[in-house]
Amino acid sequence: MAQAGNSELVDSFEQFFRNYYDSDIKQLAQRYPNEQRSLHVDWQDLYRYDPDLADDFINQPEQLQRYAEEALRLYDLPIDVSLGQAHVRVTNLPETESPEIRDIRARDMNSLVQVRGIVRKATDVRPKIEEAAFECQLCGTLTRVPQSSGDFQEPHECQGCERQGPFRVNFDQSEFVDSQKLRIQESPEGLRGGETPQSLDVHVEDDITGEVTPGDHVSATGVLRLEQQENQGEKSPVFDFYMEGMSVEIDEEQFEDMDISDEDKKQIYEISNQDDVYEQMVASIAPSIYGYDQEKLAMILQLFSGVTKQLPDGSRIRGDLHMLLIGDPGTGKSQMLGYIQNIAPRAVYTSGKGSSSAGLTAAAVRDDFGDGQQWTLEAGALVLADQGIAAVDELDKMRCVTSETVVELADGSNIPIGDIAQQAAIHGEIEPLSNGRTIRDIDVSVRTMTNSGTIVERPVTAVHQYEAPSELIEVITKDGNRLRSTPDHPYFVHQQGNIVERQAEDLTIGDQTLVPRGQDTIAADGGIGTSNPAPDAHLRNVEHSEIADVRRIDNSDWDYVYDLTVEGTHNFIANGMVVHNSEDRSAMHEALEQQKISVSKAGINATLKSRCSLLGAANPKYGRFDHYEPISEQIDLEPALISRFDLIFTVTDQPDEEKDRNLAEHIITTNYAGELTTQREEMASLEVSTDEIAEMTDQVDPEIDAELLRKYIAYAKQNCHPRMTEAARNAIRDFYVDLRSKGTDEDAPIPVTARKLEALVRLSEASARVRLSDTVEEHDANRVIEIVRSCLQDIGVDPETGEFDADIVEAGTSKSQRDRIKNLKGLISDIEEEYDEGAPVDIVMERAEEIGMDQSKAEHEIEKLKQKGEVYEPSTDNLRTT
Ligand code: ADP
Ligand code: MG
Repeated sequence: MAQAGNSELVDSFEQFFRNYYDSDIKQLAQRYPNEQRSLHVDWQDLYRYDPDLADDFINQPEQLQRYAEEALRLYDLPIDVSLGQAHVRVTNLPETESPEIRDIRARDMNSLVQVRGIVRKATDVRPKIEEAAFECQLCGTLTRVPQSSGDFQEPHECQGCERQGPFRVNFDQSEFVDSQKLRIQESPEGLRGGETPQSLDVHVEDDITGEVTPGDHVSATGVLRLEQQENQGEKSPVFDFYMEGMSVEIDEEQFEDMDISDEDKKQIYEISNQDDVYEQMVASIAPSIYGYDQEKLAMILQLFSGVTKQLPDGSRIRGDLHMLLIGDPGTGKSQMLGYIQNIAPRAVYTSGKGSSSAGLTAAAVRDDFGDGQQWTLEAGALVLADQGIAAVDELDKMRCVTSETVVELADGSNIPIGDIAQQAAIHGEIEPLSNGRTIRDIDVSVRTMTNSGTIVERPVTAVHQYEAPSELIEVITKDGNRLRSTPDHPYFVHQQGNIVERQAEDLTIGDQTLVPRGQDTIAADGGIGTSNPAPDAHLRNVEHSEIADVRRIDNSDWDYVYDLTVEGTHNFIANGMVVHNSEDRSAMHEALEQQKISVSKAGINATLKSRCSLLGAANPKYGRFDHYEPISEQIDLEPALISRFDLIFTVTDQPDEEKDRNLAEHIITTNYAGELTTQREEMASLEVSTDEIAEMTDQVDPEIDAELLRKYIAYAKQNCHPRMTEAARNAIRDFYVDLRSKGTDEDAPIPVTARKLEALVRLSEASARVRLSDTVEEHDANRVIEIVRSCLQDIGVDPETGEFDADIVEAGTSKSQRDRIKNLKGLISDIEEEYDEGAPVDIVMERAEEIGMDQSKAEHEIEKLKQKGEVYEPSTDNLRTT
C-alpha cells in the first residue's frame, strides 16, 4: 500500500481525474442520475498516472474504490449537481490479473481480478434492500439497519421506545438497489479436448444490471469473495468463490483468444495456394477415422461457412451450414463429431444423452441459482456456440416410458402418463411428428429434480406420444419399483460420487439409480423398501436405490410410449424414481433458421443469438438404416427440423471386402502408432527406431496441424467474404433447374425446394473461402454440386421410381409410399366386401404380394393404417377399413 494518508489518496484520485477524466466526469454530471451513474475508469490510465496507486487498487479494491468515489463527490463541477451515489468502476486490468476461471485460487481472495467468458445464466433483475427502515408498531419510530449480503438483519430493539417490536418494514424509507446474478463460464474456444468448462458467479448491482444476456461474451472485473458451502443445512469447511462485479463489458471480437502471427499468415496463404488444398483439409479432419471423404469435405465447408447476407430490405440470409449424419451404430459418427473441437475456432460439443438443463436452445427456469422465486435465463448449446459450431451427437435420443408409468403431480396426486396424454389431447394444440405427436398447452405441474438434487414443482410444457419400438427395457430396483422404457432411455446413475447418465440397455444389476428421498417408496408389488442416502451431499432431496434386475421385453402390449417436457429440469418423478425426459425441440427450428432464440416468459423477454452451424448425428430408429424407407420414418426428428439441414449424409455399415480390409488396416495402424507412442513415453529402452515411430505416426497425423487449421478457419471467416462469378451462378442455377425438371411427371411431388438452392450457394461460398478467394468460381460450384447430388441420391431418391422426391425429406412420406398405403387400403376394402367378418389378414397379404408388394412392407403398412385408425381389427386376424 502506498504510504499515504487517506486524504492524500483522495487528492491523488482528484488529480488523476482532472488529468484523464475531466470531460467524462462533466458528461456524467449532466446525465446523472437517470441516464448514467458510473464513471468507467481504464486501469491502464491509472497505471500511467501512478503505478503504485494502480497496484493498490488491485490489492485493496474496496478501500481504493471508496477514495476514488470520494474524490468524485468532491470534484469541482461547473453545474450544481451532487454525484453522491455515483460509482467508480475500473475495467481493463493487466494480463497478470486476468486468470482463467479454472485457475482462481485462495490467494486471489479480496483482490480485483478480471475474468473472460460467456454468460451462461442470468437471473432477472430484482430490487435488493440495502438499508431497511423498521417502523416500530408501538411508537412509530424508524430504526435503520444496513443490510449486507447474507441473511436479512432485523433490529434488536426499537431506537425510540427500546422495546422489541413488533416492526414493519417501511419500503418508502428503505433503500433499494437493483441486483442481478450472472454465471460466467469459460469460453468454448479456451477449452481443449473436451474439458468441462468451469464457471464463476458474479453479483452485479445498480446500473450494470440487465446489461448482458446469456450467450454474450464478456469481461467481468470485480472482487473475489468467498461463500461457505452447505451440506444439507450444515456449514462445510469448503468455500466457493463468487465475484462482486465492478464492471461487466461485452467483448465484441469474434475469436478473442486467437493470436494469428505473421508467420501463421504466411503458412495459411501458402496452403491456400496449393492445388490439393481441399485434399489436405480432408486429411486433417479426424485422421483416425478411415474414409468418409465427402463427409469430411462437407465438414470443412461447414467450418468455413458461407457468407451471411444482409439484404437491402433489412432481412438476412444465414451463411451457416447445418449438417446431419445419420447412420448405423459404430460407424465413427461420434468420433468425427468429437474431433470438431480440435479444429473449430469455437465449438460446443454436446450429446443428446447429456443433461444440461438448458438443453440445446435456452430455458427460463426458477431454480436455486436465483433465490428460488427469481427467474433465471440459461443459454443452451446453440447459444453458447454463437459464431461457431455446435456438434450435437445423438440428436434423436428417445426418452420414453410406457403408458402405465405413474407420474407424481405437484398437488401430490399420481396419474398414469398415458392418461395425461389423453386428457391433454382433448384440450391441447397437437403437433404431428413423423412417428408420433406432441401436445402442448397442458395444464399439469409435476414434481421434478433440479441440478442440486432439490425436488421442486414445475409445469409440464408438452407431452409426447410416439409409436412404441418392438423392444423395451424393464428395470426393477431392490425396493421393488419398476419402470419400462425405450432401450435408449437414460437413467441417472450414481457412480463414485458423481451422477452420470446411462441408457436403460446399458444398465447392470447393482447400479445405483436416483430416487426421491424422505418417503418410503411404495413398491409396485406392494412391498415397502428403504433406500440408501446418496453420499453426494449436494443432492438434497434424493437418494439412490440399487438396481436388482434389467430385462429386455418383446413389446406386443404397448402401441405407444410417452414422454413429458418439464422445462429447465428435464426429469420428473414417476414409479418412485427420478425419470429423465427429453427436451422440446420446437424452439430449434427458429434457432437454426433465424439464428436467434426468443424467450418470453414470466418477467423475461429476451432474444438470444444463435448464429452457429449445427453438426448433428443421429442413429436410425430401427437400429439400422434402410434405404427403402424415407428418412423421417427412420429417425425421431420432425420433418420441419430435418428440412433445416443443408446436407444430410447417411452412413450404412455394409460388409464390403475391400473396404473392410482397408478399414481394418487403418484402425490397426492407428492403434499401432498409439502403442509405439505409449512405449516411447513409458519404457526406457526401446528397440524401435525413432524413424519407424515417425513413419507410423505420420500415417495418422493430420495433414495440417490442428492449431494452424483453427487459425486458418478463423482468419478466413474474418477476412474473406467471397461473391459468386457468373459461371458459378449459372452452374448452380442449371443444376437446380435440372433437378426440378426430373420431378415434373404428372402429380409428382415438388422434387427439390428453394432451400436446397440456398444451401448450394452457401456451400460454394465456403468452398471459395477455403482458398481464401474473394470470388466463387465455377469449380467451387461443381465441387458442391457433386456433394449435394450424392447426398440427395442417398436420401432423396424414391427407391421405387428412381426419381428425386424431396417430399421424402421435407414431408416425411414419399409419393410411392403414399401410393402403397392408398393401394393397400383399397385392397383391404375390396376384400372386405367378399367376407362378412372383415378382410382376413392372410388373404390381404396374398393379394398384396400379387400386386408386387413385399410381405414385410405390407405388414408394416397395415400396422401403420391401424395406428392411424384407418383400419381396425373387428376380430383377430380380420381387417376392416373405417
Ligand atoms: P457411432 O457414433 O457411429 O456409433 P463411434 O464414433 O462411437 O460410432 O465409433 C465406434 C468405434 O469404431 C470407434 O472406436 C471408432 O474409432 C471405430 N470406427 C468406426 N468406423 C471407423 C472408421 N471408418 N475408421 C476408423 N475407426 C472407425
Ligand atoms: Mg455415437
